[in-house]
Amino acid sequence: MIKVENLHKHFGGFHAVDGASLGIRPGSITGLIGPNGAGKTTLFNVIAGVLSPTSGRVTMDGEDITGLPPHVLFHKGLLRTFQIAHEFHSMTVRENLMMVPGGQSGEALWNTWFRRGRIAAEEHALREKADEVLAFLTIDHLADERAGNLSGGQKKLLELGRTMMVEAKVVFLDEVGAGVNRTLLNTIADAIERLNAERGYTFVVIEHDMDFIGRICEPVICMAEGKVLAEGTLDEIKADERVIEAYLGTGLKNKAAAGAQA
Ligand code: ADP
Ligand code: MG
Repeated sequence: MIKVENLHKHFGGFHAVDGASLGIRPGSITGLIGPNGAGKTTLFNVIAGVLSPTSGRVTMDGEDITGLPPHVLFHKGLLRTFQIAHEFHSMTVRENLMMVPGGQSGEALWNTWFRRGRIAAEEHALREKADEVLAFLTIDHLADERAGNLSGGQKKLLELGRTMMVEAKVVFLDEVGAGVNRTLLNTIADAIERLNAERGYTFVVIEHDMDFIGRICEPVICMAEGKVLAEGTLDEIKADERVIEAYLGTGLKNKAAAGAQA
């Protein structure tokens, strides 16, 4: 579904992404792991159009999407989640969802005078959709809560919820589990699996929590120093010498050696 060919992103002389090539299979929940500074977030940002690549190519279903801006990719169903922006903290959870789809009639001033009925109908439909999404994510009790009052994990669910307000095909999640407690992390994992199974979303997930990766991701791709090192099941990846080498000093090898789920 997504193909990345020999992608480079340089910041000055620094090669954050240094010739990365990989493919994302449609219908997969692909994990992306690698030590800090491996270039994972930069790779996401280039694919999602937030950063333009120095060189290389990204295609989606065979179409060249290299360097297309985020809003164009958004309409093609390629989404990268972002933290709920600070200015949206004072809005409710439901309102945060209702804001996602663009192109509502309410945007044009004259519409508010001449087509009130249509706007009301659209708003009603949006509200229903938002409530459906909240129920799906099991946070419907938070609909009227201000987004700023949510816990870290609840915010992550809301970010995921925003992708459900449009017809997403492939969703990029960067460190969904960071700072999230175990219970909510399970809820997030469930939501990802259900979106994948029931709505056909393809996911690419960056996460440091290997239990989380092991539970929902296949395949797993490991990056280091801007390049793809290995791809396989998490067990294959954990047994790969190059991967162990890359993680040296960051704890994976020690944990693996100790028999922990690194
Ligand atoms: P990861 O997400 O795997 O931890 P990043 O993609 O965030 O890695 O970063 C890869 C490398 O690129 C890091 O060394 C980081 O300091 C560097 N980097 C990221 N963004 C920039 C930037 N805007 N300017 C300069 N260096 C950057
Ligand atoms: Mg990162």
